[in-house]
Amino acid sequence: MSEPSNLKHIDRAQLAGLVEALAGAGTAVIAPALRHDARGTVGYRTVTTMADVVLDKRPDNALKSFFLPPTEPLLHYERQGKDVTLTPVDPSIGPRVVLGALPCDAAGLPIVDRVMDWDYRDEPWFGRRDATTVIALACDKADSACFCTGVGLAPDGASGSDLLLVPAGDGFLVEVYSDKGQALVDLHPAFFGEPRDQEQAQAFRAGLGAALSHADGLDPAAARAWIEGHFIDPAWPALALSCHGCGACAMVCPTCHCFDIVDEQEGVAKGTRRRNQDYCQYGLFTLHGAGHNPRGDQGARIRQRVSHKFAIYPDRFDAILCTGCGRCSRACAAGIDMFEVVERLAGLQADIDEETPTGGDL
Ligand code: SF4
Ligand code: SF4
Repeated sequence: MSEPSNLKHIDRAQLAGLVEALAGAGTAVIAPALRHDARGTVGYRTVTTMADVVLDKRPDNALKSFFLPPTEPLLHYERQGKDVTLTPVDPSIGPRVVLGALPCDAAGLPIVDRVMDWDYRDEPWFGRRDATTVIALACDKADSACFCTGVGLAPDGASGSDLLLVPAGDGFLVEVYSDKGQALVDLHPAFFGEPRDQEQAQAFRAGLGAALSHADGLDPAAARAWIEGHFIDPAWPALALSCHGCGACAMVCPTCHCFDIVDEQEGVAKGTRRRNQDYCQYGLFTLHGAGHNPRGDQGARIRQRVSHKFAIYPDRFDAILCTGCGRCSRACAAGIDMFEVVERLAGLQADIDEETPTGGDL
């Protein structure tokens, strides 16, 4: 993990003051907050007061939707005779702060950056990335679905974070990881004090591993090796037997980023080009107009999602497209658990390795 460039302390009253100061100055503050629904669910949403912020529960939606909205207009078009006028939508937005991001959600952002700046720079994505300062909170909320440590991350990791808060004494140790994070501290000096209670922050960190011990031996490299050699294998349809193809897993995932672009006609001669999030678990996702579907059954669709995350993306972008957040497993009505899937595929590879004689034996 990279080292912080600066340390500060912020107590809970100062944090509340910071939220109100930011909101009062026109900065959108996004934080885990109660939805005020019947089930009392918590999700990332815009807040204006600390009273709405819930820092002791995991938000159930993905942070990605604040960077890749479920739907967004890209341009408007209008036809006059043979001429077509295109009016791009300005992707720039005002400043925003994400407060209390889970480290696994913050870590998803630089992973997705890689594809968004690949063959084409996605300006709406990077406009939102540039406008947003991410303050993550070291996480003691792991459950059996979580496996961030199994994919090389950590519940107190700072990947994707400009500032990381670690509980300490009456507030939080503030670790600064970027110029953007330092700029936020410099802009609001009244809310940040000198670092203190660092031994308490250390003790908090030391206690985080126990809840993730089930992920210690996970071997995503072995899962990748198996995937690369088994495009056609009975394990895929077996895995998909209970899958409904509902797409919930991809919808809540912080790193699933597929989208579709459509032109929505508005009357006869004009319309709007929109991009909409789309999910590879839907049968329609790859259905061709002529009726052929290269991923014609759910086994092929699950293979695509798992392969993309653990073999294709690592091959192309040198990063696993999964932060081990466990959200897909919690959301799946069929009980398909991503940690168990990776563990199982890695186990299949381990079986092959055991059966294969080593070079020295030949
Ligand atoms: S959430 Fe579960 S049932 Fe729905 S598509 Fe994903 S794996 Fe299948
Ligand atoms: S695949 Fe599942 S565990 Fe991995 S980042 Fe997506 S939602 Fe989280």
